[in-house]
Amino acid sequence: MPNQIIELEAVTKSYQRFPALHDVTTTIPAGVTGLLGPNGAGKSTLIKILLGLLKATSGRATVLGLDVWRDSMSIRQQVGYMPEDDCYLPTLSGVECVQFAARLNCLPPLEALRRAHEILDFCGAGQERYRTVETYSTGMRQKLKFAQSLVHDPQLLILDEPTAGLDPDEREAMLNRIGVLARGHGKSILICTHILPDVQRVSDQVVILAAGRISVSRSLAELSRPLTPSTHVRVIGSAERFRDALSSRGMRIEPGPPGTVVVGGDSPECLQAIWQAAAEGDVMVRSLTPARNSLETIFLQAVEDATRAGGGDADS
Ligand code: ADP
Repeated sequence: MPNQIIELEAVTKSYQRFPALHDVTTTIPAGVTGLLGPNGAGKSTLIKILLGLLKATSGRATVLGLDVWRDSMSIRQQVGYMPEDDCYLPTLSGVECVQFAARLNCLPPLEALRRAHEILDFCGAGQERYRTVETYSTGMRQKLKFAQSLVHDPQLLILDEPTAGLDPDEREAMLNRIGVLARGHGKSILICTHILPDVQRVSDQVVILAAGRISVSRSLAELSRPLTPSTHVRVIGSAERFRDALSSRGMRIEPGPPGTVVVGGDSPECLQAIWQAAAEGDVMVRSLTPARNSLETIFLQAVEDATRAGGGDADS
């Protein structure tokens, strides 16, 4: 398997003369990647190009090392796609729909049925699988689309809004399944969503598109680390004594929310000094958390940067 699951080199796509993607260059490694962007940013256009459904105006793109236009049939065998919109055949039952998706990927009828049941079990679909799909709730429709995208055991999954419309329990279950596929089965997953906490929860890497441009393409861990690191400490006991003990060790104390002592730095030496100061000040450490940039702040900044770079040509 190539190191990079997706490679984009100067990809531009114009509809008539309107550039929906503008000179997009990036690489996406194996793992879980969140694809973010406001409406009209070019996410669907990019996904269609990756699936070989749309031809880029210029540039080069590969998926799993295969050229998206020349090798689109091979790519489809190795990629599963869960669209945002419903995609079922009315009058069929859930299990028949998933079996049909497996048949489209050339599995023999009996094997397709066996596999459909296996995947529906994984998706937590019970007896509802035997009902016709028109009767399904939003949660069951999402499970069905997810199962259809997964039934041929693809190496890469592209999921468009997989948790949209789900209640908190169903959403949790969907994110857990994504985690199992990525960590337990080595699948790579590209998740396109507006729900930033979902991306924060499951992604290794984040790509932010805005106004047809890539604004950010980096690991979430790197992005989340602030330029000036700090550690948030909550203690039981006298915060004043704790502060004094930190100061006497030369630690920098920064302003922070009430009840929290914010200590400059997050290195192992800094953490050691925090524990020593807690012992010296006779306080118990209740929590100790390195400060992190929120994905929301990163997202808003990235959109602003890209919109400025593009002269404000985003349509939302
Ligand atoms: P997103 O999925 O991020 O909302 P899209 O890729 O759907 O963005 O759209 C990117 C831009 O391209 C938008 O401004 C949209 O209006 C435009 N666009 C998308 N599809 C077409 C099309 N078939 N013809 C003309 N313009 C389009």
